[in-house]
Amino acid sequence: MKIINRFNLPQSIVNAVSYNGIKNEKRLSVTDLIGSPLVRQLKMKHWDELESDVSDMLWALLGSATHYILQKGAPKSSLSEQKIEVEKGGFAIVGVPDIYHDEVLSDYKITSCYSFILGDKPEWEQQLNVYAWLLEHCGFPVKKLEINAILRDWMKSKTISDDYPPIPFQMVDIPLWPKEKIDKYIEERVGLHSLPAGECTSAEKWERPTVYALTKNGAKRATKLFDSLEEANKNCDKGFSVITRPGICVRCQDYCIVNRFCGFYKSAGA
Ligand code: SF4
Repeated sequence: MKIINRFNLPQSIVNAVSYNGIKNEKRLSVTDLIGSPLVRQLKMKHWDELESDVSDMLWALLGSATHYILQKGAPKSSLSEQKIEVEKGGFAIVGVPDIYHDEVLSDYKITSCYSFILGDKPEWEQQLNVYAWLLEHCGFPVKKLEINAILRDWMKSKTISDDYPPIPFQMVDIPLWPKEKIDKYIEERVGLHSLPAGECTSAEKWERPTVYALTKNGAKRATKLFDSLEEANKNCDKGFSVITRPGICVRCQDYCIVNRFCGFYKSAGA
């Protein structure tokens, strides 16, 4: 994969992000394991043709820098930023848990207030439970999972709202899955990555469905959004119109590094 610098960012930043990624078909990072098998398989197949722009890697750089500093502040008796590898189904499953201390696994996220207000994402729960599985396999029992979220876009002026975090930091407990559940999950994910992949799921494509916007004539903002055209038409009084907002797959369109090689995306007419 080539790193390109379309916006001429400083060389120090280019150097800092350029270590990123090596091709290894028999290695599954935790992010790979819980992620789309099709994206990973297309990445492996077209590795030498792929390009990643430095400007798209800035948030990841910020995350890495924060983890580097936090590792230095980790409690002395903790395990911090240690690479763990466990062999499963012909793959090396590789993860680097942030901090493991007193049987508690803490993961740090640099994220937006929006993500936090929406609640924890399912992939956070999957990720931490896979880390716990890796730790358990190396003889480190886990009794609790937590996310320490640093909210990068927090604004003091918004704290007057009840559902807005009072400080730019929040700790979130993540459910620890029973052994049978995590074993079954790992088995299923490894199975999916071993076979030729089908189309990505709606969640993997970050699909936003079509909605029907009831809008006052002449206004730009919708008065109300409906999932069905029939419902929207029923509520459409004189002076209002129903405007269709077609659904999109946000990731396919704007964020998937392999979309130009993806038959499903191309056949959707992109
Ligand atoms: S373009 Fe969409 S469907 Fe194709 S690999 Fe990317 S995310 Fe999946």
